[in-house]
Amino acid sequence: MGNDGGSIPTRRELVKSPTRRATHSQLRDSNAQTQEYHWSTCPLSKRPLASPVVSDSSGRLYNKDSILEWLLRGTEAFGDGEEVLDGRVKSLRDVLEIKFDISKEDGQDKWVCPVSRKGLLAGVRAVYLVPCGHAFLESAIKEIKGNEGVCLQCGTAYEADNVIPINPVLDEDAQSLRNRIKILSEKGLGHTLRKLSDGKSKKRKKGFKESEKLPKKEETSIKNAATASLTSKVLEDEKMKNKRRKTEMSDNLRSLFSTKEQDDASGRNDFMSRGYTIPTKR
Ligand SMILES: [Zn+2]
Repeated sequence: MGNDGGSIPTRRELVKSPTRRATHSQLRDSNAQTQEYHWSTCPLSKRPLASPVVSDSSGRLYNKDSILEWLLRGTEAFGDGEEVLDGRVKSLRDVLEIKFDISKEDGQDKWVCPVSRKGLLAGVRAVYLVPCGHAFLESAIKEIKGNEGVCLQCGTAYEADNVIPINPVLDEDAQSLRNRIKILSEKGLGHTLRKLSDGKSKKRKKGFKESEKLPKKEETSIKNAATASLTSKVLEDEKMKNKRRKTEMSDNLRSLFSTKEQDDASGRNDFMSRGYTIPTKR
């Protein structure tokens, strides 16, 4: 029988049915569902995607307000945030606002490619350009230029490496995006090609007023008032965090040591001796 303490059950007895490998069509169905999901839903808040929408280095789409909430409140806001973002979003500089061309269809806003007017949705290969954030069908971009190009919407120059597939399906796309961000971070740059903040930037030492420049850029790209106030909160928060990081570190260390000393002094504060008085020599 087992499980009565009399015998040790084997794995075969405990695992009812062996895991079956998914068939090709099952995989295809689940891929299609995943695509549908990522084109319609913010994976962080699980709410429908609604403008303003941002994207991180993986090409995934998120509601901007969800990202702001995540940066302000972390796992308190979205329990599975770490899992969803996998360390890709640590500051507003890690996401880019995507500028979708919108077409009204049956009273609903649909994202379309500004060149072909075809829909940008699950099942098509869509891309956006860094640094401007305009979104197109991949075929529209490929037909136009080779390695470098100019955005057809705003005229901003871009390199081939900075054409980001939206919600990539192929493993090789995901892999090349991971390589891209790795190479960028080695250069001290983030997904949006802006310098990663490290507080020790040489430019800042030379008097480059980065902190004054950045909020301005943010402001111009914000249309939604609620998002705007959240954004300024996050920017303020990030500034404070950077300032406090050093002092907090030393405070944390100090508190670690002082609690240990206190415990040692009283001699019965740890869980082994709680509720029990250790006889001491007099
Ligand atoms: Zn553009």
